[in-house]
Amino acid sequence: GIRFEKVVKRFGHNVVLRELDFSVAPGERVTLIGPSGSGKTTILRLLMTLEKLDDGLIWIGDETLWHMERGGKRVPAGQKHLHEMRKQVGMVFQQFNLFPNMNVLRNLTEGPVRVLGLSKDEAVERARGLLDLVGLADKENAHPTQLSGGQQQRVAIARALAMQPRVLLLDEVTSALDPELVVGVQDLLRDIARQSDLTLLCVTHEMTFAKDISDRVLMFDQGQIVEEGPPDRIFGEPSEQRTRDFLQAVL
Ligand code: ATP
Repeated sequence: GIRFEKVVKRFGHNVVLRELDFSVAPGERVTLIGPSGSGKTTILRLLMTLEKLDDGLIWIGDETLWHMERGGKRVPAGQKHLHEMRKQVGMVFQQFNLFPNMNVLRNLTEGPVRVLGLSKDEAVERARGLLDLVGLADKENAHPTQLSGGQQQRVAIARALAMQPRVLLLDEVTSALDPELVVGVQDLLRDIARQSDLTLLCVTHEMTFAKDISDRVLMFDQGQIVEEGPPDRIFGEPSEQRTRDFLQAVL
């Protein structure tokens, strides 16, 4: 699972996360909702080590991401520790972010070979299994530019899964897609989420998708959790005015 403990993140004078506390249990699927600019993407980027935190602790499993224990004290983690921790987290981005100069198969084998140390054959076998899962078995030689947005996003999902992460982060994964491609990608992710024991943290503006994919929804605003609960309750009978206003604006 994941745990944020009094996490503070600032950009200059802009305090984006204010002593944020929340956790996601192992295998739990959680969606973050909240207004634009409230810090949702920052939470995911901290977990991917794409941003540094200013204070507090972030736990993945029973190890802290940015710190290590040394002589009973917490000290900043070294590159090696960060590298090891990073392997446990996969992310799918809004803009797919495929390697543009590599074909589909290579997009899926590159990480497992370079980072996990799989042999080429092992990586190819794993990649083909995943391309089958996402319905793109016939596209392994295609280049990203030859694929539709929906297909590119399926490749990005397969690429994240090829690293066999414990935690999967989804950041607005359908907002760059043409409307007719959205449902296919959402259904795929819902099936993956239900069939795996991945810990899932998802940011989305699509409330139907949030309902479909999550056990719990966190409403987030101004660096803090406003309220949380099962999707039916948060969307059906939110208890906070802030949540009601937000849902009215997006639904
Ligand atoms: P959205 O739904 O629009 O993606 P969000 O909730 O994901 O919004 P973040 O992208 O996490 O919000 O941004 C939170 C705040 O941090 C915003 O005020 C943003 O301007 C600021 N911010 C994010 N990244 C940076 C950065 N690299 N440098 C400076 N400010 C940043």
